[in-house]
Amino acid sequence: MRVRDLLNNNVPENTVLVIGAALSGAFSALEAARRGWRVFLIDKEDKIIPDSSSSNNECYKLHTGLHYAGNLKTALACLEDSIAYARQIPAECLAGTNDPNDPCRRGRHFVMSNSLFPPEEIKKVALILQKRYSELVAKDPKNKVFGEPEDFIKFLSESDYPYVAKEIPFTDTSTLRKEQIKVVLGIETGESQIDINKVRGYLTREINSHPNISFVPNVQVLNLSPLSDQLGYAVTVATPTGKQIWHVPAIVNCAWQNIESLSKQLGFYTPDENRVIRVKVCAQVELPPSLRSVNTCIFSIGPFASFTNLGNGQAVLASELTTNVGFYRVESGNRSFELAELMKTPLNPQTGRGAQLSDKIRRECANYLPDLAEAKISKVMLGYVKMTHVPTSYNGSSSLCQKHSPIHQRLERGVEVESGALGYIANSGNKMTYTLRNAEAACHILQHHFQLRESLKQTLSVIKPVVVEKLKKINKKYVNHLTDTLLLNVFKRAILSNSSDSSPEAVLHDVLSVIEKKERMLALIRSRCYGKKLVSLAAPDPIPAPPQTTARL
Ligand SMILES: Cc1cc2nc3c(=O)[nH]c(=O)nc-3n(C[C@H](O)[C@H](O)[C@H](O)COP(=O)(O)OP(=O)(O)OC[C@H]3O[C@@H](n4cnc5c(N)ncnc54)[C@H](O)[C@@H]3O)c2cc1C
Repeated sequence: MRVRDLLNNNVPENTVLVIGAALSGAFSALEAARRGWRVFLIDKEDKIIPDSSSSNNECYKLHTGLHYAGNLKTALACLEDSIAYARQIPAECLAGTNDPNDPCRRGRHFVMSNSLFPPEEIKKVALILQKRYSELVAKDPKNKVFGEPEDFIKFLSESDYPYVAKEIPFTDTSTLRKEQIKVVLGIETGESQIDINKVRGYLTREINSHPNISFVPNVQVLNLSPLSDQLGYAVTVATPTGKQIWHVPAIVNCAWQNIESLSKQLGFYTPDENRVIRVKVCAQVELPPSLRSVNTCIFSIGPFASFTNLGNGQAVLASELTTNVGFYRVESGNRSFELAELMKTPLNPQTGRGAQLSDKIRRECANYLPDLAEAKISKVMLGYVKMTHVPTSYNGSSSLCQKHSPIHQRLERGVEVESGALGYIANSGNKMTYTLRNAEAACHILQHHFQLRESLKQTLSVIKPVVVEKLKKINKKYVNHLTDTLLLNVFKRAILSNSSDSSPEAVLHDVLSVIEKKERMLALIRSRCYGKKLVSLAAPDPIPAPPQTTARL
């Protein structure tokens, strides 16, 4: 199947356009293809998991829960998703070696003396997570992806982490109070990471070799609109050879930070006043020999720091105060000039804003791991995280310091379907570990939409003769106006207005109102053309209201 077919409106009914080819999009494309559908996977960039995608600029952790120890529900969801994730990707896509003590396979969580949640509570959560992991392994030994259950949690003593500073300077940004903090609890877990380059290689091979998927790079979606004469969408895209308009029956939108702006064009977006996109910057560094075999670690819970050992002599550093460079509300889309500039210009570790930010992140992380002070910065990474349907508004870095901020949970998974959005699913990968199960959920819903569309077509063929007969009785010439497109539009309106009443009476009522509007327009045009005075624009006969019915699509 070729792109030309999209231009000529010549694609099978079960064709899906997946927008965005990073983790959410790649998994969605594979899942759709597995169900036998035809898939066009596109990205504005040049490859699967592009360099600029959030999937390529994150910390790659298969979170086993402690990161969200302040919210047990999120912690357990993280654990279960990470197990499912690690089970489904090939084992060689995990970072590090098969050695159970590899630094990439044993994430460490250091609880600070000014943690937002007390160490005793975090200890309890750690034990609940261990119990849950043991249960899951007992239920299915294939769940044993993070080592032996008895080793899943190990409480550390101070001598286990000589590389961590004993005293760490800290400034509370809300009060500007300076203090010295320290680690009060160290927990090692079976938390592992993915190796993003290996995952990209695996997904690229799978996608390129799948007969149902066509991957088209360098195509940016500019606009989406519903088709007027059939069920489906018109997609305006910018390609290397110019603008094109494609017609597609269904869309899975995996464009992450751009999902909402595209959904709004279709009217498929319900206002969510606290929805924000947070912009994050991390620094990748070359590790000094003393830190090469140090475990991936996170200092928690609050505005602290994290160190992700990539296992190849490099590490990703995040220092929450500087890493959270800004945010914008999806509702308005407004961002400061500075943030807009930061988002559009690739960051360079040697010059300008990229050099400033990465140097600051390294200095702040060196407060925790002093040997980082001289680490050479190799890359500045920019990515996005999204917060949706949260009860309180996000106020930037200060939210990190608030115990009850929604930042300390991530329960929304990211698959959203607006009522009436037949064949259109928004799929935000709210965590890297959610992207696999989200792909299944998005395609599951789409399957239902395909069935609904099929039954719509069948209903059309059954109802049309009934409507024709009824129309003939009202006014014979009205029958000439009754096309499949008109009927389909009437059905579509019924679906979009969330009323699924498709009884012949209801359809007749809507059809009549469209036809009579047309007739009145024609009368108006004729009267103007022939210079006649228009007698009446009123409908000749009142339209009978549809009786109550139980018929449903
Ligand atoms: C600093 C940081 C650390 C993180 N750490 C972790 C972690 O340790 N563990 C974890 O589980 N999660 C983590 N995350 C979250 C994780 O990165 C995201 O949840 C995940 O990468 C989202 O994947 P995605 O495919 O949905 O989005 P993306 O990877 O951003 O993909 C979106 C794709 O859509 C394309 N696109 C956008 N607009 C258009 C358009 N108009 N037309 C065509 N293509 C378009 C883009 O080019 C891109 O390739 C982290 C995030 C950040 C920023």
